[in-house]
Amino acid sequence: MRIQTLPENLVARIAAGEVVERPVSIVKELVENSLDARSRRIVVEVESGGKKAIRVTDDGHGMEAADVQAAFQRHATSKIRDLEDLMEISTMGFRGEALPSIAAVSRVRMRSATSPSGIGSLLLVEHGVIGKISEVSASQGTGVEVTGLFEKIPVRKKFLRSVPTELAHITNLLHRFALVRPETSFRLVSDGKPILEAPGVPRFRDRVRQVFGDRFLDVMIPLKVEDGELRLHGFVSRPDSHHSSRTRQSFFVNHRLIRDRTLSHAIQEAYERILPARRFPAVLIFLDMPPAEVDVNIHPAKTEVRFRDPSRCHDLLFNGIRDLLAAIKPFAPLLGSSGRPEPDSFTKVPDRLREATEGFFQIRESLLPETAGAPGPGR
Ligand code: ADP
Ligand code: MG
Repeated sequence: MRIQTLPENLVARIAAGEVVERPVSIVKELVENSLDARSRRIVVEVESGGKKAIRVTDDGHGMEAADVQAAFQRHATSKIRDLEDLMEISTMGFRGEALPSIAAVSRVRMRSATSPSGIGSLLLVEHGVIGKISEVSASQGTGVEVTGLFEKIPVRKKFLRSVPTELAHITNLLHRFALVRPETSFRLVSDGKPILEAPGVPRFRDRVRQVFGDRFLDVMIPLKVEDGELRLHGFVSRPDSHHSSRTRQSFFVNHRLIRDRTLSHAIQEAYERILPARRFPAVLIFLDMPPAEVDVNIHPAKTEVRFRDPSRCHDLLFNGIRDLLAAIKPFAPLLGSSGRPEPDSFTKVPDRLREATEGFFQIRESLLPETAGAPGPGR
């Protein structure tokens, strides 16, 4: 048995709040669990944009029968034990609240096996009521099926959007997970149709191609800098490719998509006087550091962090981009036939890619609540 219920004093220190708002929030928590279980293959299947059914299947380490039951208790987790662990989180989850929160508003069927013996455990939890555990045949890993979301809470069900909208959120989320874990194989199937097929690849670049297509890299410049144990990599757009809002800027800290004023500000400063007024670059920034350098326990959906040394993070990003832009000045410019830059040079990118990319950057807006005072899109 690996899962334990956290002591009260620790529960009190964990950022509290609602986890399940819509299908994509469930997919996010389930995929995070699969990643924490060191899965190499993750399959997400949804019906009606997740409103009817969500199934996440992984080949991770799985759970023993007792843990399958324990997983649905509030504040029950195998990922942290004490305050010290909370200060150095290296997993996606740590609150021990996702599964009970999901099971409280839906019907959950979980099947899990810890060995390839072919025998595992099955548990049904319906609207918060935990059923009896039974033995079933199962391959190693965990499969979770969520149906009847908000069935018993019509007011919340009413707030769900159309199937295409909910599906778009899920697709974009999967793109994002795929980008953070190139070595993991991701598959998304919607109503029986494959939407994303991304077999594990050794390099981040290869994953970017799988997700956005080959042309995306044409308008982006790779960035890689470090300062001691602070490591930063990603892509920033060429100075001749810019946009009317900041919606195409994404930041990942230790594999987590976050919203952060310090990093946004560094981007703004680095491109100042390089881009025309009120134009913004696209960026895809991955910042990695030892877990003790960043507090991830400040937001219930884990979408904001607090850096121990914000100015060091700022300077690494700012200087990295400045040096990069200075070194690669002469471009084959992306000019319109008039010889002047296109109003939005992104429009030169083929439609399919543009949609995918725009969708990707929009997920930030839908998933991440506004930070008070943070620069919003278009400002
Ligand atoms: P948290 O991820 O914050 O620990 P969850 O409610 O998401 O809380 O999950 C509770 C526990 O259930 C996890 O700590 C983990 O031990 C176990 N668990 C959940 N999903 C999986 C999975 N796909 N594979 C293996 N273990 C899992
Ligand atoms: Mg979790």
